[in-house]
Amino acid sequence: MKSLLVCFLAIAALARAASAPKTPNIVFIFSDDHAYQAISAYGDARKLLDTPNIDRIAKQGVRFDRCLVTNSICGPARATILTGKYSHLNGFPNNSNSTFDGAQQTFPKLLQKAGYQTAIVGKWHLGSDPTGFDFWQILPGQGVYYNPPMIKMGERVAMPGYVTDIIGDVSLEWLKNRDKTKPFMLMCQHKAPHREWAPPLRHLGFDKDRVYAEPATLFDDYSGRGSAVRDQDMTIAKTFTDRDAKLALPAGISPEQQKTWDAYYEPRNAAYRAANLSGKALVSWRYQRYMHDYLATVKAVDENVGRVLDYLDKEGLAENTIVVYASDQGFYLGEHGWFDKRWIFEESVRTPLLVRWPGVTKPGTATKALVSNLDFGETFLDVAGVPVPADMQGRSFQPLLRGEQPADWRTAFYYQYFEYPAPHRVRPHYGVITDRYKLVHFDGMGEAYWELYDREKDPSEMKSVYGDAAYAATINQLKKELTRLRQELKVPAEIPARFYGNQGAGGEGGKKKKQAKQGDL
Ligand code: CA
Repeated sequence: MKSLLVCFLAIAALARAASAPKTPNIVFIFSDDHAYQAISAYGDARKLLDTPNIDRIAKQGVRFDRCLVTNSICGPARATILTGKYSHLNGFPNNSNSTFDGAQQTFPKLLQKAGYQTAIVGKWHLGSDPTGFDFWQILPGQGVYYNPPMIKMGERVAMPGYVTDIIGDVSLEWLKNRDKTKPFMLMCQHKAPHREWAPPLRHLGFDKDRVYAEPATLFDDYSGRGSAVRDQDMTIAKTFTDRDAKLALPAGISPEQQKTWDAYYEPRNAAYRAANLSGKALVSWRYQRYMHDYLATVKAVDENVGRVLDYLDKEGLAENTIVVYASDQGFYLGEHGWFDKRWIFEESVRTPLLVRWPGVTKPGTATKALVSNLDFGETFLDVAGVPVPADMQGRSFQPLLRGEQPADWRTAFYYQYFEYPAPHRVRPHYGVITDRYKLVHFDGMGEAYWELYDREKDPSEMKSVYGDAAYAATINQLKKELTRLRQELKVPAEIPARFYGNQGAGGEGGKKKKQAKQGDL
């Protein structure tokens, strides 16, 4: 009788296991400084590049049209994703003097505890060694494009070749050799297309010297906005270096690789030198060179996305694997005369996000819901069936993957940037973003002031309407929302001087510290 009961219970358990959804694998492909303008699924007006493989994720899944980052630079974005917390709580506010405290709670650690096999390959950029991963192989610091040394589980290894292909190779190798009895979470983190945008040799000249359309704001004179926008140091006109322009060689290139490099660049650089360009003509030349190089690096990222998707197809894993493509922030491709990021403005604060989950995501759909890199960790835990700790500050967007937007989904998002003055002299600022407006508070350089942007009337954010009486009620409402968000997110009233980076404590940032009273809030 007893054995019959045991047998019955065993059969019941088996039946439950068969009907329960299988724990999904997670492949998170994450690039560095990949502008949504350079992903064809996002449909940029300039039609800069076809990205057929990244587009496969969009075609089979959901395209997020407003994924905003909490602090638009590399390290802070990564720390936010790992912890689901803003910079002021995860301890990594800038790229200058921050080191990630790997003892803190992260989503990979929680997945690992729940039985996932976890790995990270590629750019890490958080100072300390990765924690919460069964396997890790990372670039030291920013890494280099050619023959990049890597750190594999604490050991430095030489890696001949092109960085994007290497990260693809190591990721695939790990997938092939993983423990196949466990679900997995792979973070495949490309260095490309980060500055200085050194292309793979096979794609030099891929665009056949195409002349790219210039963005309408390439020669922005910054009128209509305050001094922070005018004072920055991130223009193609003034900040571009010889290495950015490929008038100097990239780090790590071998003599053999240099032959191919020189065969492409040298005749073009000779013509450039002979033309002796200045003013707008020089900016236009640099813009064309920038687009060629940046897009060539993206082409290799796209190919390596394709290799991972092909592997999942071939191994029969695609059906039960959620694939996410995102970048650590947005990037300027000449808009407002800029490269780089950092600002609350759209090209910088908005990052691409594409998610494919067969059987869950409806193919080829898009959403304008305000999501964030703050939500990634929470979402990964949620789809894995792991409880989301209450101290994570984002929210799982799993319902949005099913095409369901919760009635209480966020309608306002808090942004804060610290690193100042170097590099790029973008002043510290914070603000609130809604579907239509951005209210921003700048400080530094002995002044503190507000700006308001109405993106419905001014999508390129060319004119602050903060002083316009017609917006008084809107400003009032946005300030209330900002106060609420700052309280809810536990933003300190006084920002510690170290948050601004190494130069912040003694330089302009020191003066700034006294003014960091956060305006009139
Ligand atoms: Ca970045």
